[in-house]
Amino acid sequence: MKYNRCGRSGLLLPAISLGLWHSFGHNASPDLKRDLCRKAFDLGITHFDLANNYGPPPGSAEEAFGDILRTDFSGLRDRLIVSTKAGYHMWDGPYGEWGSRKYLIASLDQSLKRLGLDYVDIFYSHRFDPETPLEETMGALDFAVRSGRALYAGLSNYPPEATRLAGQILRALGTPCLIHQPRLNMLQREPLEQGVVEAAAHEGMGVIAFSPLAQGILTHKYLDGIPPGSRATHGRWFDKSQISPAHVARLRKLNEIARARGQTLAQMAIAWLLHDKRITAALMGASSVEQIEDAAGAAKNTAFSPEELRGIDVALA
Ligand code: NDP
Repeated sequence: MKYNRCGRSGLLLPAISLGLWHSFGHNASPDLKRDLCRKAFDLGITHFDLANNYGPPPGSAEEAFGDILRTDFSGLRDRLIVSTKAGYHMWDGPYGEWGSRKYLIASLDQSLKRLGLDYVDIFYSHRFDPETPLEETMGALDFAVRSGRALYAGLSNYPPEATRLAGQILRALGTPCLIHQPRLNMLQREPLEQGVVEAAAHEGMGVIAFSPLAQGILTHKYLDGIPPGSRATHGRWFDKSQISPAHVARLRKLNEIARARGQTLAQMAIAWLLHDKRITAALMGASSVEQIEDAAGAAKNTAFSPEELRGIDVALA
Protein backbone atom coordinates (compact mmCIF):
# COMPACT_ATOMS: atom_id res chain seq x y z
CA MET A 1 0.00 0.00 0.00
CA LYS A 2 1.13 3.52 -0.73
CA TYR A 3 0.85 6.06 2.11
CA ASN A 4 0.33 9.71 1.24
CA ARG A 5 0.94 12.73 3.43
CA CYS A 6 -2.37 14.29 4.40
CA GLY A 7 -2.12 17.97 3.42
CA ARG A 8 0.41 19.94 5.44
CA SER A 9 0.37 17.54 8.39
CA GLY A 10 2.50 14.83 9.89
CA LEU A 11 -0.08 12.15 9.15
CA LEU A 12 0.30 9.58 6.38
CA LEU A 13 -2.91 7.95 5.14
CA PRO A 14 -3.19 4.87 2.94
CA ALA A 15 -4.01 5.77 -0.66
CA ILE A 16 -7.10 3.56 -0.26
CA SER A 17 -9.22 3.68 2.88
CA LEU A 18 -12.23 1.59 3.82
CA GLY A 19 -15.56 3.23 4.68
CA LEU A 20 -18.13 1.41 6.81
CA TRP A 21 -21.29 3.16 5.57
CA HIS A 22 -22.71 0.08 3.85
CA SER A 23 -22.23 -3.62 4.73
CA PHE A 24 -21.73 -2.68 8.36
CA GLY A 25 -25.19 -2.43 9.89
CA HIS A 26 -27.49 -5.13 11.20
CA ASN A 27 -28.11 -6.08 7.56
CA ALA A 28 -24.64 -7.66 7.24
CA SER A 29 -23.25 -10.68 9.06
CA PRO A 30 -20.59 -10.26 11.77
CA ASP A 31 -18.37 -12.63 9.79
CA LEU A 32 -18.52 -10.45 6.69
CA LYS A 33 -17.64 -7.34 8.73
CA ARG A 34 -14.66 -9.08 10.30
CA ASP A 35 -13.49 -10.44 6.95
CA LEU A 36 -13.69 -7.01 5.29
CA CYS A 37 -11.70 -5.31 8.06
CA ARG A 38 -9.10 -8.05 8.33
CA LYS A 39 -8.56 -8.16 4.57
CA ALA A 40 -8.23 -4.38 4.44
CA PHE A 41 -5.68 -4.31 7.25
CA ASP A 42 -3.71 -7.17 5.72
CA LEU A 43 -3.47 -5.16 2.50
CA GLY A 44 -2.13 -2.12 4.37
CA ILE A 45 -5.42 -0.24 4.59
CA THR A 46 -4.92 1.29 8.02
CA HIS A 47 -7.74 3.83 7.89
CA PHE A 48 -11.38 2.95 8.69
CA ASP A 49 -14.03 5.62 8.25
CA LEU A 50 -17.29 5.83 10.19
CA ALA A 51 -20.02 8.31 11.11
CA ASN A 52 -22.48 8.44 13.99
CA ASN A 53 -25.37 7.53 11.67
CA TYR A 54 -23.87 4.58 9.75
CA GLY A 55 -25.87 1.39 10.05
CA PRO A 56 -28.76 0.60 9.83
CA PRO A 57 -29.80 1.33 12.48
CA PRO A 58 -27.77 4.50 13.06
CA GLY A 59 -24.88 3.82 15.42
CA SER A 60 -24.68 0.11 14.66
CA ALA A 61 -21.65 0.42 12.35
CA GLU A 62 -19.67 2.03 15.16
CA GLU A 63 -20.79 -0.71 17.53
CA ALA A 64 -19.76 -3.40 15.05
CA PHE A 65 -16.37 -1.81 14.47
CA GLY A 66 -15.97 -1.45 18.26
CA ASP A 67 -16.41 -5.23 18.52
CA ILE A 68 -13.70 -5.73 15.91
CA LEU A 69 -11.36 -3.35 17.71
CA ARG A 70 -11.78 -5.42 20.87
CA THR A 71 -11.29 -8.78 19.13
CA ASP A 72 -9.59 -9.10 15.73
CA PHE A 73 -7.84 -5.74 16.05
CA SER A 74 -6.99 -6.07 19.73
CA GLY A 75 -3.57 -4.55 20.39
CA LEU A 76 -3.53 -2.75 17.04
CA ARG A 77 -4.94 0.63 18.05
CA ASP A 78 -1.70 2.51 17.41
CA ARG A 79 -1.52 1.08 13.89
CA LEU A 80 -5.00 2.28 12.94
CA ILE A 81 -6.66 5.53 11.95
CA VAL A 82 -10.31 5.60 12.99
CA SER A 83 -12.51 8.48 11.92
CA THR A 84 -16.08 9.42 12.73
CA LYS A 85 -18.42 12.31 12.01
CA ALA A 86 -21.45 14.20 13.22
CA GLY A 87 -23.75 16.48 11.25
CA TYR A 88 -26.75 14.51 9.98
CA HIS A 89 -29.85 13.56 11.97
CA MET A 90 -29.05 11.29 14.88
CA TRP A 91 -31.69 11.83 17.55
CA ASP A 92 -34.93 13.76 17.98
CA GLY A 93 -35.20 17.29 19.28
CA PRO A 94 -33.21 20.41 18.45
CA TYR A 95 -29.79 19.02 19.49
CA GLY A 96 -29.66 15.90 17.31
CA GLU A 97 -28.18 17.23 14.05
CA TRP A 98 -26.30 20.05 12.22
CA GLY A 99 -23.36 22.01 13.62
CA SER A 100 -23.91 23.27 17.17
CA ARG A 101 -21.29 22.64 19.82
CA LYS A 102 -24.03 20.99 21.89
CA TYR A 103 -24.74 18.37 19.20
CA LEU A 104 -21.18 17.75 18.00
CA ILE A 105 -19.69 17.06 21.42
CA ALA A 106 -22.63 14.97 22.64
CA SER A 107 -22.51 12.94 19.44
CA LEU A 108 -18.75 12.41 19.65
CA ASP A 109 -19.11 11.17 23.23
CA GLN A 110 -21.77 8.70 22.07
CA SER A 111 -19.53 7.56 19.19
CA LEU A 112 -16.61 6.94 21.54
CA LYS A 113 -18.84 4.84 23.77
CA ARG A 114 -20.09 2.74 20.84
CA LEU A 115 -16.55 2.28 19.54
CA GLY A 116 -15.16 1.57 23.01
CA LEU A 117 -12.39 4.11 22.39
CA ASP A 118 -10.92 6.99 24.41
CA TYR A 119 -10.32 8.98 21.24
CA VAL A 120 -10.83 8.87 17.48
CA ASP A 121 -8.07 9.91 15.14
CA ILE A 122 -10.20 12.22 13.02
CA PHE A 123 -13.47 13.89 13.99
CA TYR A 124 -15.42 15.49 11.15
CA SER A 125 -18.13 18.05 10.89
CA HIS A 126 -20.21 15.95 8.47
CA ARG A 127 -21.91 18.87 6.73
CA PHE A 128 -21.82 22.67 6.62
CA ASP A 129 -24.55 24.24 8.78
CA PRO A 130 -25.61 27.57 7.28
CA GLU A 131 -27.54 28.53 10.46
CA THR A 132 -24.75 28.04 13.02
CA PRO A 133 -21.81 30.48 13.14
CA LEU A 134 -18.80 28.74 11.63
CA GLU A 135 -16.80 29.90 14.67
CA GLU A 136 -19.03 27.73 16.89
CA THR A 137 -18.75 24.60 14.75
CA MET A 138 -14.99 25.01 14.35
CA GLY A 139 -14.70 25.82 18.06
CA ALA A 140 -16.37 22.49 18.80
CA LEU A 141 -13.86 20.64 16.56
CA ASP A 142 -11.01 22.48 18.30
CA PHE A 143 -12.48 21.52 21.68
CA ALA A 144 -12.84 17.88 20.58
CA VAL A 145 -9.10 17.85 19.87
CA ARG A 146 -8.01 19.84 22.93
CA SER A 147 -10.10 17.67 25.25
CA GLY A 148 -8.42 14.52 23.89
CA ARG A 149 -11.52 13.09 22.21
CA ALA A 150 -9.92 13.40 18.75
CA LEU A 151 -6.42 13.85 17.38
CA TYR A 152 -7.36 15.78 14.24
CA ALA A 153 -10.29 17.78 12.87
CA GLY A 154 -11.93 17.32 9.46
CA LEU A 155 -14.67 18.75 7.25
CA SER A 156 -17.03 16.88 4.97
CA ASN A 157 -19.38 18.18 2.28
CA TYR A 158 -18.40 21.82 2.89
CA PRO A 159 -18.71 24.24 -0.05
CA PRO A 160 -15.55 26.07 -1.21
CA GLU A 161 -15.96 29.40 0.60
CA ALA A 162 -16.92 27.74 3.91
CA THR A 163 -13.92 25.42 3.47
CA ARG A 164 -11.61 28.40 3.19
CA LEU A 165 -13.10 30.18 6.21
CA ALA A 166 -13.20 27.03 8.32
CA GLY A 167 -9.53 26.42 7.50
CA GLN A 168 -8.63 29.92 8.62
CA ILE A 169 -10.65 29.70 11.85
CA LEU A 170 -9.17 26.34 12.83
CA ARG A 171 -5.65 27.49 12.10
CA ALA A 172 -6.17 30.59 14.26
CA LEU A 173 -7.46 28.33 17.05
CA GLY A 174 -4.28 26.23 16.84
CA THR A 175 -5.97 23.11 15.46
CA PRO A 176 -5.21 23.17 11.72
CA CYS A 177 -7.83 21.28 9.73
CA LEU A 178 -6.36 17.96 8.64
CA ILE A 179 -8.67 16.88 5.85
CA HIS A 180 -11.71 17.49 3.69
CA GLN A 181 -14.02 14.63 2.66
CA PRO A 182 -16.10 15.44 -0.45
CA ARG A 183 -17.88 13.08 -2.83
CA LEU A 184 -15.61 12.84 -5.83
CA ASN A 185 -15.27 10.37 -8.68
CA MET A 186 -14.95 10.35 -12.48
CA LEU A 187 -18.72 10.83 -12.82
CA GLN A 188 -19.22 13.36 -10.01
CA ARG A 189 -16.51 16.01 -10.32
CA GLU A 190 -18.12 19.01 -8.61
CA PRO A 191 -15.41 19.32 -5.91
CA LEU A 192 -12.84 19.75 -8.70
CA GLU A 193 -15.01 21.96 -10.90
CA GLN A 194 -16.42 24.17 -8.14
CA GLY A 195 -13.20 24.72 -6.21
CA VAL A 196 -13.51 22.58 -3.07
CA VAL A 197 -10.32 20.64 -3.79
CA GLU A 198 -8.47 23.85 -4.57
CA ALA A 199 -9.75 25.55 -1.39
CA ALA A 200 -8.81 22.55 0.76
CA ALA A 201 -5.33 22.31 -0.76
CA HIS A 202 -4.81 26.06 -0.33
CA GLU A 203 -5.67 25.74 3.37
CA GLY A 204 -3.23 22.86 3.78
CA MET A 205 -5.89 20.15 4.10
CA GLY A 206 -5.62 16.73 2.56
CA VAL A 207 -8.57 15.49 0.48
CA ILE A 208 -10.15 12.05 0.83
CA ALA A 209 -12.64 11.31 -1.95
CA PHE A 210 -15.73 9.41 -0.82
CA SER A 211 -17.71 7.11 -3.15
CA PRO A 212 -14.72 6.88 -5.54
CA LEU A 213 -16.52 4.12 -7.46
CA ALA A 214 -19.82 6.04 -7.60
CA GLN A 215 -21.33 3.33 -5.37
CA GLY A 216 -20.24 0.58 -7.74
CA ILE A 217 -21.16 2.21 -11.05
CA LEU A 218 -17.47 2.72 -11.89
CA THR A 219 -16.76 -1.01 -11.81
CA HIS A 220 -17.56 -3.90 -14.13
CA LYS A 221 -20.64 -4.61 -11.97
CA TYR A 222 -23.38 -3.06 -14.10
CA LEU A 223 -21.93 -3.65 -17.57
CA ASP A 224 -24.28 -6.60 -18.18
CA GLY A 225 -27.37 -5.71 -16.17
CA ILE A 226 -28.15 -5.36 -12.48
CA PRO A 227 -26.85 -8.29 -10.40
CA PRO A 228 -29.12 -9.47 -7.56
CA GLY A 229 -28.06 -8.12 -4.17
CA SER A 230 -26.06 -5.25 -5.68
CA ARG A 231 -26.43 -1.78 -4.21
CA ALA A 232 -28.61 -0.77 -7.17
CA THR A 233 -31.26 -3.16 -5.83
CA HIS A 234 -31.36 -1.81 -2.27
CA GLY A 235 -29.28 1.37 -1.91
CA ARG A 236 -31.36 4.29 -0.65
CA TRP A 237 -29.04 6.85 -2.22
CA PHE A 238 -28.23 4.92 -5.39
CA ASP A 239 -29.11 6.84 -8.57
CA LYS A 240 -30.44 4.21 -10.98
CA SER A 241 -30.49 6.67 -13.88
CA GLN A 242 -26.70 6.20 -13.85
CA ILE A 243 -27.11 2.67 -15.17
CA SER A 244 -29.40 3.48 -18.08
CA PRO A 245 -28.37 1.89 -21.42
CA ALA A 246 -26.78 5.19 -22.53
CA HIS A 247 -24.70 5.42 -19.37
CA VAL A 248 -23.68 1.79 -19.54
CA ALA A 249 -22.42 2.41 -23.10
CA ARG A 250 -20.11 5.08 -21.64
CA LEU A 251 -18.97 2.73 -18.88
CA ARG A 252 -18.08 0.15 -21.53
CA LYS A 253 -15.81 2.68 -23.24
CA LEU A 254 -14.16 3.42 -19.89
CA ASN A 255 -13.75 -0.29 -19.33
CA GLU A 256 -11.85 -0.54 -22.63
CA ILE A 257 -9.46 2.23 -21.56
CA ALA A 258 -8.92 0.50 -18.22
CA ARG A 259 -8.23 -2.80 -19.96
CA ALA A 260 -5.64 -1.16 -22.21
CA ARG A 261 -3.93 0.13 -19.04
CA GLY A 262 -3.93 -3.36 -17.56
CA GLN A 263 -6.40 -2.33 -14.86
CA THR A 264 -9.95 -3.17 -13.92
CA LEU A 265 -12.45 -0.34 -14.23
CA ALA A 266 -12.55 0.00 -10.41
CA GLN A 267 -8.75 0.27 -10.31
CA MET A 268 -8.69 2.91 -13.02
CA ALA A 269 -11.43 4.93 -11.29
CA ILE A 270 -9.36 5.02 -8.10
CA ALA A 271 -6.09 5.67 -9.95
CA TRP A 272 -7.76 8.58 -11.77
CA LEU A 273 -8.41 10.24 -8.40
CA LEU A 274 -4.94 9.54 -7.04
CA HIS A 275 -3.12 10.96 -10.06
CA ASP A 276 -4.13 14.41 -8.74
CA LYS A 277 -1.52 15.00 -6.04
CA ARG A 278 -3.98 17.05 -3.97
CA ILE A 279 -6.04 13.89 -3.41
CA THR A 280 -4.65 12.01 -0.41
CA ALA A 281 -6.85 8.93 -0.56
CA ALA A 282 -9.84 7.23 -2.14
CA LEU A 283 -12.41 6.19 0.47
CA MET A 284 -14.05 3.06 -0.91
CA GLY A 285 -16.82 0.80 0.30
CA ALA A 286 -17.01 -2.95 -0.17
CA SER A 287 -19.47 -5.80 0.16
CA SER A 288 -16.86 -8.53 -0.37
CA VAL A 289 -13.16 -9.10 0.30
CA GLU A 290 -12.59 -9.49 -3.44
CA GLN A 291 -13.66 -5.89 -3.97
CA ILE A 292 -11.03 -4.71 -1.49
CA GLU A 293 -8.38 -6.83 -3.21
CA ASP A 294 -9.39 -5.36 -6.56
CA ALA A 295 -9.20 -1.76 -5.31
CA ALA A 296 -5.92 -2.26 -3.48
CA GLY A 297 -4.23 -2.93 -6.83
CA ALA A 298 -5.13 0.57 -8.04
CA ALA A 299 -2.27 2.37 -6.32
CA LYS A 300 0.28 0.43 -8.40
CA ASN A 301 -0.34 2.62 -11.46
CA THR A 302 -1.70 6.10 -10.93
CA ALA A 303 0.07 7.70 -13.91
CA PHE A 304 -2.07 8.68 -16.93
CA SER A 305 -0.96 9.86 -20.34
CA PRO A 306 -2.70 13.00 -21.71
CA GLU A 307 -4.32 10.71 -24.33
CA GLU A 308 -5.77 8.45 -21.63
CA LEU A 309 -7.16 11.42 -19.70
CA ARG A 310 -8.68 12.81 -22.89
CA GLY A 311 -10.08 9.39 -23.74
CA ILE A 312 -11.81 9.21 -20.35
CA ASP A 313 -13.35 12.66 -20.82
CA VAL A 314 -14.50 11.80 -24.34
CA ALA A 315 -16.01 8.50 -23.15
CA LEU A 316 -18.01 10.33 -20.50
CA ALA A 317 -19.03 13.32 -22.66
P1 NDP B 1 -17.77 3.27 -3.43
O1 NDP B 1 -18.02 4.29 -4.50
O2 NDP B 1 -16.42 2.68 -3.33
O3 NDP B 1 -18.89 2.13 -3.59
C1 NDP B 1 -18.75 0.93 -2.91
C2 NDP B 1 -19.63 -0.13 -3.56
O4 NDP B 1 -19.21 -0.37 -4.87
C3 NDP B 1 -19.48 -1.48 -2.84
O5 NDP B 1 -20.29 -1.56 -1.72
C4 NDP B 1 -19.87 -2.42 -3.93
O6 NDP B 1 -21.29 -2.39 -4.09
C5 NDP B 1 -19.27 -1.77 -5.16
N1 NDP B 1 -17.91 -2.21 -5.44
C6 NDP B 1 -16.77 -1.86 -4.80
N2 NDP B 1 -15.71 -2.44 -5.36
C7 NDP B 1 -16.16 -3.18 -6.38
C8 NDP B 1 -15.53 -4.00 -7.33
N3 NDP B 1 -14.21 -4.16 -7.35
N4 NDP B 1 -16.30 -4.62 -8.25
C9 NDP B 1 -17.63 -4.45 -8.24
N5 NDP B 1 -18.30 -3.67 -7.35
C10 NDP B 1 -17.57 -3.04 -6.43
O7 NDP B 1 -18.01 3.93 -2.02
P2 NDP B 1 -19.28 4.10 -1.03
O8 NDP B 1 -20.37 4.81 -1.73
O9 NDP B 1 -19.56 2.80 -0.38
O10 NDP B 1 -18.64 5.09 0.03
C11 NDP B 1 -17.42 4.72 0.66
C12 NDP B 1 -17.28 5.41 1.97
O11 NDP B 1 -17.30 6.82 1.82
C13 NDP B 1 -18.43 5.14 2.96
O12 NDP B 1 -18.34 3.89 3.58
C14 NDP B 1 -18.23 6.27 3.92
O13 NDP B 1 -17.15 5.98 4.79
C15 NDP B 1 -17.84 7.42 2.99
N6 NDP B 1 -19.00 8.25 2.64
C16 NDP B 1 -19.04 9.49 3.19
C17 NDP B 1 -20.11 10.33 2.98
C18 NDP B 1 -20.10 11.68 3.58
O14 NDP B 1 -21.12 12.39 3.53
N7 NDP B 1 -18.99 12.12 4.13
C19 NDP B 1 -21.30 9.88 2.19
C20 NDP B 1 -21.13 8.56 1.61
C21 NDP B 1 -20.02 7.80 1.84
P3 NDP B 1 -22.23 -3.70 -3.95
O15 NDP B 1 -22.79 -3.59 -2.60
O16 NDP B 1 -23.23 -3.50 -5.03
O17 NDP B 1 -21.35 -4.92 -4.15
